[in-house]
Order: sequence, then C-alpha cells, then structure tokens
Amino acid sequence: MRATYSFLMSVKTATRSPLATARRVVVKVGSALLVEAQTGRINQSWLETLVDDLLRLRERGQQVILVSSGAVALGRRELSLAKGPLRLEESQAAAAVGQIRLAHAYREMLERRQVTVAQVLLTLEDSERRRRYLNARATLETLLSLGALPVINENDTVATAEIRYGDNDRLAARVAQMTAADCLVLLSDVDGLYSADPNRDPGARFIHEVPHLTPEIEAMGAGSASEFGTGGMTTKLMAARIAVAAGCHMCVAAGRPLHPVRRLEEGERCTWFLPAASPAAARKQWIAGTLRPAGAVTVDQGALRALLAGSSLLPAGVTSARGRFERGDTVSVLTPEGMEVARGIIAYSDADALKIIGRHSAQIPAILGFRGRDELIHRDDLVLLPSFAYEPA
Ligand code: GLU
Repeated sequence: MRATYSFLMSVKTATRSPLATARRVVVKVGSALLVEAQTGRINQSWLETLVDDLLRLRERGQQVILVSSGAVALGRRELSLAKGPLRLEESQAAAAVGQIRLAHAYREMLERRQVTVAQVLLTLEDSERRRRYLNARATLETLLSLGALPVINENDTVATAEIRYGDNDRLAARVAQMTAADCLVLLSDVDGLYSADPNRDPGARFIHEVPHLTPEIEAMGAGSASEFGTGGMTTKLMAARIAVAAGCHMCVAAGRPLHPVRRLEEGERCTWFLPAASPAAARKQWIAGTLRPAGAVTVDQGALRALLAGSSLLPAGVTSARGRFERGDTVSVLTPEGMEVARGIIAYSDADALKIIGRHSAQIPAILGFRGRDELIHRDDLVLLPSFAYEPA
C-alpha cells in the first residue's frame, strides 16, 4: 500500500514538480543542516548525499547554483567562541575562518566527482547596486556556461550590520532573481509553511501550495518566526516575495533527511510558492515598467522592422541617441517618427553608444578599444510596448 502510494506520488510529482522541469535551479542549505550541533563539524555524510542530488540535476541538463551557509557556525568552533549570540566582529572573524573550511569541503567533495566548484561571496550591495549586480550576474552566467558549480555565501567578513543580508534565504532569492532561475529550493529544518505553529497548535494545517502571497499568508510567517526553526519563516516569506516576483518557483522543504532534493522530487511534502509569470516575462514586465528611462535611441525603418519581428537592436540600425545612461540602464527605443516602440536594457554607456551608432558591430572593438556586445540592446533585454507587440489570437 505504502509502496503504491509513493509510486503514485512520484509519478505525479515527476511530471508536475517545478524542480523536474526547471532550467536553472538555486538550492540553499542552512547552517543547522550543514554543521553538526554536537561537534561543530561539517555533516559530511549528509552533504555527500546533497551533492549527489545536485549532480543528478546537472546530469539531466539542468544548471545548479548552491547557496551555502555554515561559515560562522564552523568558524566559531575553531576559534573556540562561547555559545550564545556573537558580536558582529566575532561573527565576521568566525566567517573568515569557517568559509575556508566550507570551501575546502566543497572542493574536495566535488573534485572527487570531477566537477569544478567556484566560490562566489556576495554582499547586499552586489544585488542592490546596478553595476555590481550586472557584474555578479555576468560572472555567474560565465561560470555556469563553463560548467562550474557556483557555491555562494554572503561575504560576511566585510559586510557591516547595515549592509548585510544576515540570512541566506534572501540572498538565495536575490541570486535566483539575478540569474533568472526558475526554481529556488530552501532546505531548512522546517518542512514548510503551516497555518499556525504545529508545535503548539494541534489544528495547524500544512500549506502545500501558495499561489499568491496574501496578507493571510504573510501573517502566518510573522507570528511564527522564532518558533519554526533557526531561519524562521519571516525571512523565507521575504525570499518568496523576491522569488515569485522574479518569476521563480520557490519551495521550503525539510533538508535534514539524506538526499533531500531527490526526496522532494519523489513526492516528499513541502510548500511551493508559485510565481506570477515566467522569469523572462517577469524581467520584461520589469523593463517595461521602468518609470523613467534614462535615455532614448531612435532607429531607422530597417531596424524597426527587425525589432517588430523579434530581433535584437544593433548599433547599425540606430540613427541617434540622447540622454545620460550607463551600461545596464533602461532606455526608450523610438521610431523614425519619434514614437516610443520599445524599452530595453542598453549594453553601452551614452558616450560609447554615440560613437558606435550607425556602424557595423564588427567595428566596435576598433572604435571603442574593447570588445563589448554586438547588440546595442539584446532581444532578451528588449520589450515591445503593448500597442506594438504582436499578440497571437
Ligand atoms: N552567511 C552565514 C554563514 O555562512 C549564514 C547566514 C544564514 O544562516 O542564513 O554562516
């Protein structure tokens, strides 16, 4: 009976689970899972099974990013810091010691499996400041395209109290947003969201799916932050808000059992937060919704036709550019008559754009002295405004 049930569950979830269909998956593991409470050491045997699960996703052609906590927990033991809350400088010192251990453990484990691991330490500013955001995004994209497995943590040693995430739930959601991941898995010591604290309220209901982050759902997190486990539901709901707005599915699941990711695919219960749109659509909505584009470029008829047919905008098709903008800013695209037809994220600053418009992309390196993108606005970064967008019936 039990076998039949789990078989049916696995058939059901194998076809439905966003984890199975995602192109790019971000998995976050909390310190409480990674570091044994008794010894303060890495929970090696458990971690091996998590790593195996992640490599299984990769073997299926999915891209994987791991967000791993554990630096502070590992370092505090090595520095023999007393139990209890640490001062900021102490946790930073602990992170400095622990992060090396953590990196070493991943490196060793993945090397044995012939996978290259890359450590990326991010601060809050890397996701809030546009230039740094673009840089971090480009680095992660490059690592993934080269087949490395990025392992991310907050750069705890330099982040000060005001500019730190402090929790890897939100950091992981930002990483998912930054990389347009379609699935984010938060592995923790709670198995999901409940309508009330299950330790106190026998009537607490498990919530399998959250289609919308309603005030009612937010309240479930708020009341339970301290009792529901180390990370607390509050930061997980904050993470959910970031992820679903970016078009990413997110789940909160129990990470303690061995093979925690595989178990999820096999039907282990968890709470799924459903996104409003796909990552690409969410990104385009965000571009279209820019309140004040930083500048505008005017295109010729040929480029206009190409844009309407879904192509990127090349410098050759642009007749003028105005405004002050940096690479990564949103600009308007105007028809020869001056009507706004599209918006997009421009790949060059105003000064560089003025030099290359009307020119062939192959000439860019000679003109600017560096090799940037061939496109002024890549089609992934370009959105036609509704009156111009072709809507299939
Ligand atoms: N970045 C912290 C660490 O590695 C963990 C933050 C968290 O637990 O969410 O220790």
